[in-house]
Amino acid sequence: RAKASGRNSLKFFDPTMQKEVKRRSELERKLREAISLQQLELYVQPQISSDQQYVGMEALLRWNDPVEGFISPADFIPIAESSGLIIPLGAWVLRKACQILADWSTIPGMENLTLSVNISPRQFRHLQFIDHIDSCLIELGVNPNHLELEITESLLIEDIDHTIERMNALRQRGLRFALDDFGTGYASLSYLKLLPLNKLKIDQSFVHDVLTDVNDEAIVSTIIALGQSLDLAVIAEGVETAEQAALLEKFGCHVYQGYYFGKPAPVDQWQKIISKVRLSHKNL
Ligand code: C2E
Ligand code: MG
Ligand code: MG
Ligand code: MG
Repeated sequence: RAKASGRNSLKFFDPTMQKEVKRRSELERKLREAISLQQLELYVQPQISSDQQYVGMEALLRWNDPVEGFISPADFIPIAESSGLIIPLGAWVLRKACQILADWSTIPGMENLTLSVNISPRQFRHLQFIDHIDSCLIELGVNPNHLELEITESLLIEDIDHTIERMNALRQRGLRFALDDFGTGYASLSYLKLLPLNKLKIDQSFVHDVLTDVNDEAIVSTIIALGQSLDLAVIAEGVETAEQAALLEKFGCHVYQGYYFGKPAPVDQWQKIISKVRLSHKNL
């Protein structure tokens, strides 16, 4: 340990910082290995409309390490982003998502679902990003209308012209765009009218206390009104109770994602549930 004073003391030595650096490089090494061994998995979480229809799913990466157990994407995505591993990982996610959509197109009750995929800024800016999407769509015969890309405000801070150009190119192919974690970033509201967006996702931090915190209530209702006046769909994430959903509905938000409606789970699991729901509807 560093001494606070004395000869040869390292005044800026910070044991927690060193631990963090070590943890990051260890995670990076393990992530690299997990990617090459194909040890990551895509879970999906449903998006449900107020009339109880499944309208889409969000694909969420899961890394189940044999020793550590599940490692959160909140921990490994930033490492993937800073190390560049997000390029092969993100490409894998997109291909996998297209495989899922290709499967769904043959399963009654699943054929109209959209699948939303989180795209990190470095992945979006990568030279081969659009080419890769094109080849996944073509090789797997996927309807581009069913693929939604979730981007965040961080993508809008730098090189906005390039971002808009790329978004337009993808929109021309039929893909959709949702602005994730909306309200938590630093992007100017004036970007909203420049971007070819389809949807705003209200960040879960605002939904969490919407019933008890008047500021969160004001933010949530304002985002919903903003979406309506800009002609954008609005979805609330992190909906955990019926009361939250009811208030959101009252404010004019009609699509929800959250533990109250279903947790992220392996694709097979949701496929079974949704085809069962459909069968029981048929038998009514
Ligand atoms: P996100 O895209 O905002 O995803 C929503 C997160 O909220 C997910 O966390 C989801 O499991 C969680 N969640 C859903 N419903 C509820 C709820 O009712 N309550 C609470 N407390 N949480 C809920 P997850 O799966 O841990 O992912 C965290 C973040 O990691 C994602 O946030 C996304 O930014 C990133 N991520 C996940 N998968 C990918 C991926 O394939 N690529 C990229 N680039 N990022 C990903
Ligand atoms: Mg997301
Ligand atoms: Mg989000
Ligand atoms: Mg998030």
